[in-house]
Amino acid sequence: MARLYTVHRLKIGHTEQMDALARAAGDLYSQVVVWFWRTVRHKDLWLKAQHLMRWLTSALLHAHASDAVVQSFFAALASWHARREEDPDAHPPRRRKRFYRVQWKGSAIRIRNGFLHLSNGRTSAPLVVPWQWDEPCQVEMGWDGKQYELRATYRVEPPPLGSHDLVAGIDLGEVHLAVSHDGTTTTILNGGYIRSLRRYQNKLKGKRDAYIDRKKKGSQRRRRAIQGKKRRLAKVARQLKDALHKLTTKLVSTLHQRGVQTVVIGDIRDIRQTADHGHTGNQRLHQMPSGIVRHMLTYKARMLGMEVVLAPEHYTTQSCPACGRRYKPRGRLYRCRNKQCGFVFHWDGVGAINIRNKYTASGLVVGAMASPIGVRYQPHLRCSAA
Ligand SMILES: [Zn+2]
Repeated sequence: MARLYTVHRLKIGHTEQMDALARAAGDLYSQVVVWFWRTVRHKDLWLKAQHLMRWLTSALLHAHASDAVVQSFFAALASWHARREEDPDAHPPRRRKRFYRVQWKGSAIRIRNGFLHLSNGRTSAPLVVPWQWDEPCQVEMGWDGKQYELRATYRVEPPPLGSHDLVAGIDLGEVHLAVSHDGTTTTILNGGYIRSLRRYQNKLKGKRDAYIDRKKKGSQRRRRAIQGKKRRLAKVARQLKDALHKLTTKLVSTLHQRGVQTVVIGDIRDIRQTADHGHTGNQRLHQMPSGIVRHMLTYKARMLGMEVVLAPEHYTTQSCPACGRRYKPRGRLYRCRNKQCGFVFHWDGVGAINIRNKYTASGLVVGAMASPIGVRYQPHLRCSAA
């Protein structure tokens, strides 16, 4: 089973000591950038993290913190390598940084009398912060745009598997973010709010880019316009993330309350890579947040001790759950064409029913199926995980 982690965030303001640490990390990162590319240029040699880790360090930072800075440059390099295939515009990490995040691990982290002590290099004092939680396995200090924040990572032991054997199928999509079916009940996560945020995001991008293009290159106004665009887009991204969290938490806790033990998620990962739906269609499809939704549902379900399985999804929205015949309905209702079958249900739920049936290898038990229940985004949707 995959390891589970959770992160506590704590805003810690802004002091000279924090600045000095972040600047030391930035200096070190910049040195890595300079030396790495210089060696590529002069010697045609691509260094590895372990070559630079022993060589470039900062006296202000803990030895492991220095290593973490070097490693994060190489992580960025690796992700550029991976992305380069699909995205020809991807840039390798070449920019120097004035400030950079600082990480602490293992022996550099200690808790004493309600304070978190984060050890630094020989020439600097530890960073000490009031602390109400246990000892984390890793801490990172980053900048949130206004002040520093600590992100403390904890390992979580998932609760043991329960005795229930209820299975729910989940169908991810665009019209509906997710539809679940557990044998009797169908729950629908409405995707309308997410879609409208996406539309706004695209519009904002286009509008702001056009505005930036009208400003002279290198001018103060252009720089301010770029900053404004980043700020506005970051806000929309936060709203999106918030809505996705609330909706997915709601679905997972609903399933948990009903005693669902296994969640089967329809795997639509290969749809995105192969199909071509034209410019607008592609944009819509590629911006489907189903990857994020799948990820959120997966870890939230695991946190509650449920098992999560990915199942291939072929024609699951078109096949009749009762007799297997394929047909694509026009309206919202799925009405099987097979005269002997006569299956009728809301089309939205058919995908989830089929995903579940495939996993449990059972035919459909018609009869006790209730109409779908819809869940819509509400700004103050409470979502304490049950
Ligand atoms: Zn049928």
